[in-house]
Amino acid sequence: MDTKNAGFNTKLIHAGDFHDEYGSAVTPIYQTSTFAFKNAQHGADLFAGKEKGFIYTRIGNPTIGALENKLAELENGCGGIALASGMAAVTTVYMTFLGQGQHIICTSAVYGPSRAVLESHFAKFGVESTFVDSSNLKEIEDAIRPNTKLLYLETPANPTMALTDIKKASEIAHKHNIIVVVDNTFSSPYLQKPLDLGADVSLHSLTKFINGHADIVGGALIAKDPEIYAKLRKTMVYMGGNMDPHQAYLVIRGVKTLTLRIDRAQENAMKVADYLEKHPKVAWVKYPGLKSFPQYELAKEQMKGPGAMISFELKGGYEAGVTLMDNVHLALLAVSLGGVESLIQHPASMTHAGVPKEARLQANITEGLVRYAVGIENVEDIIADLDHALAKI
Ligand SMILES: *Cc1c(COP(=O)(O)O)cnc(C)c1O
Repeated sequence: MDTKNAGFNTKLIHAGDFHDEYGSAVTPIYQTSTFAFKNAQHGADLFAGKEKGFIYTRIGNPTIGALENKLAELENGCGGIALASGMAAVTTVYMTFLGQGQHIICTSAVYGPSRAVLESHFAKFGVESTFVDSSNLKEIEDAIRPNTKLLYLETPANPTMALTDIKKASEIAHKHNIIVVVDNTFSSPYLQKPLDLGADVSLHSLTKFINGHADIVGGALIAKDPEIYAKLRKTMVYMGGNMDPHQAYLVIRGVKTLTLRIDRAQENAMKVADYLEKHPKVAWVKYPGLKSFPQYELAKEQMKGPGAMISFELKGGYEAGVTLMDNVHLALLAVSLGGVESLIQHPASMTHAGVPKEARLQANITEGLVRYAVGIENVEDIIADLDHALAKI
C-alpha cells in the first residue's frame, strides 16, 4: 500500500512493509548474509546500481530495508538507515561529518557515551568539540568557528530535560553551512519531527520508544537530503554498524503500537509528575508537561506531547535516593527507557557512582536526583509503588 499521504498510525502499521509471494501478513525475516545473483550480468548490474536488489546484508537486506523505509516515512525523510545500536548511529554521524582539524558543537547534557566518544576517540583523530547548553541559542552562536561542521543536539536532554529550539538552532547553523543532527530518542517520531523543524538528520536509539519492549538494542538515522543520506549510508556500510534482520523484524513489530504505548505512558507520566510535585519529600520535578517546567511553551510548540521521562530531586539527597531504590517493587531498577515497563534509576548511586562527586554535580547529577521512565502499567499501581517507597525515607 502507498502510505505517503496516509495518517501517522497507518504509516506505523503499513509503511515500508512488504508481503511475499505467499501473501505473508507481516514482513518476513530474511535471515541471510548474502544473496545469489541470477547470472554474471545480474551481478554486474546490481553492483553498478543499474538494477535494484540485494547483494550482501551489511549493504542491504529486505527486512532491514522495510524498517528503514518505514522510519523514513514516519519522519518525512528521504531515507533511513538501521544500525546495530543507537551508539552505532551516533558514531556513524561523527565519522561522516567530522575529520582532522574540524569542529563539532554538541549539547552538553547529551547521552553520556555520545559525549565520551568525542572526548576520547574522536579527539585522538584531531576532532575538536565544544559542549554548550544548547537551550541557550547564544551559546551555540558563540561557539561557532570557521572549522565547525556539525551541530549535534539532544532535546529533551537528560537529566535536566532542557529543550533546544530545533528550528532556531537549525537556522543559526545553516547560515554557517553547519549540518544539524538531532538525537530524537526521548520523543520518538510520534512526538517530535526534527526534519520538519529544519534539522538535516534525526537519530534514534531504537532500543527505547520505537521498539518499546526492552528486548533489542538498535539505532537509526533518518536524513532529509539524498546527498547526506548517501554519505551516511556509505559510512555505515564501510564501518559495519549494520542491523541484523531478526533485530529489524522485532523493531517492525514493536513500532506498530508506538502511539498507543506513548499515549498511555505520557498520560501516566503526567499523573506521576503531578503526584511527585505535590509530595513533601520531593524538592523539584522536571517534566515538560508541567506548567512549572521552564520551557513549557517551547515543549508545546515543537513536541506533540511531553513524553514519559521524569527527573526529580529528593530533599533527602543521596541517602533518600538509595532508600527509594531499595523500596520500589513495581518499577525495575534499570537504565534505559521507552519500554512498556516502568524503570527507575538513581544516577548518584548507580550509573554515575564511579564519577567523583564534584564532577557529578558539575554535570547536574545532584545527590537526590532520580530518573523515572514511566511505563504503561495502571497508573494507580505506579503511584502506590512510589508512595510506599517515599514513605520509607
Ligand atoms: C540509549 C540512548 C542512546 C544510545 O543508544 P543504544 O541503543 O544504547 O546504543 C543514545 N541517545 C539517547 C538519548 C539514548 O537514550
